[in-house]
Amino acid sequence: MGAAGARFAVACCAVRVARDADGFPVTRSPAGVVRAAAGSRELAVLDERISGCRACPRLVTWREEVARVKRASFRAEEYWGRPVPGLGPADARIGVVGLAPAAHGGNRTGRVFTGDRSGDWIFAALWRAGLANQPTSVARDDGLELTDVRVCAAVRCAPPANAPTPEERDTCSPWLARELALLPRLRVIVVLGGFGWTALWPVLAGAGVPLPRPRPAFGHGVEVSLAGPSGPLTLLGSYHVSQQNTFTGRLTEPMLDAVLDRAKELAAD
Ligand code: SF4
Repeated sequence: MGAAGARFAVACCAVRVARDADGFPVTRSPAGVVRAAAGSRELAVLDERISGCRACPRLVTWREEVARVKRASFRAEEYWGRPVPGLGPADARIGVVGLAPAAHGGNRTGRVFTGDRSGDWIFAALWRAGLANQPTSVARDDGLELTDVRVCAAVRCAPPANAPTPEERDTCSPWLARELALLPRLRVIVVLGGFGWTALWPVLAGAGVPLPRPRPAFGHGVEVSLAGPSGPLTLLGSYHVSQQNTFTGRLTEPMLDAVLDRAKELAAD
């Protein structure tokens, strides 16, 4: 990964952008995240900038340590070891927002929700809903294509114990805000779990979306109708596709399918 060995490249207008050894533009501070996110004019640029972000020291240390040590069963693989950008087309009407990449899932493969049981669940469900061209997502070059849906996370780096701090969540939020702003047809956001639900309110407020008071509590199947920047926008809650929920039956396939069917219905309105 070699992100520590920074080099410099000259961007347009003589602005010097620090790039890491793999060529990703480096962002080192919360203020830098605000600037870099706001200046991303398209998803490809945003994805690249997210991938080079180093603004949260604790998460940078953790993700790179995990990538170096590896899990025994993945020892032969080269881990991504970076922030994980979103996946899906810019004309998506449905967004899916999760918590953060898993240490040996997204942090290994470099694709959101890919490489662990959670990903198996969400991508199989997207395929059943007709939003993906295949039921599995195992690697960035496996041919997966999403239609009408963009999948991302509230925090882009794998956190220790799957638990980002509130400060890390807030530092990362400009990336999410910009990602949602770059989806002009967005009508529905499926929020997987209470963490994403909480993370989304300030992002929406920052986009000028009038928010209900008090904030509606998270719950599976809860719907909140909002006036989004480019038309109606509905938040749709779903239990997270974590193993804790799927193994225990708190979240079943029919429950997740029903949420995605509802999302499609709302997006078509
Ligand atoms: S969590 Fe977000 S803001 Fe923090 S280092 Fe990762 S990408 Fe950057």
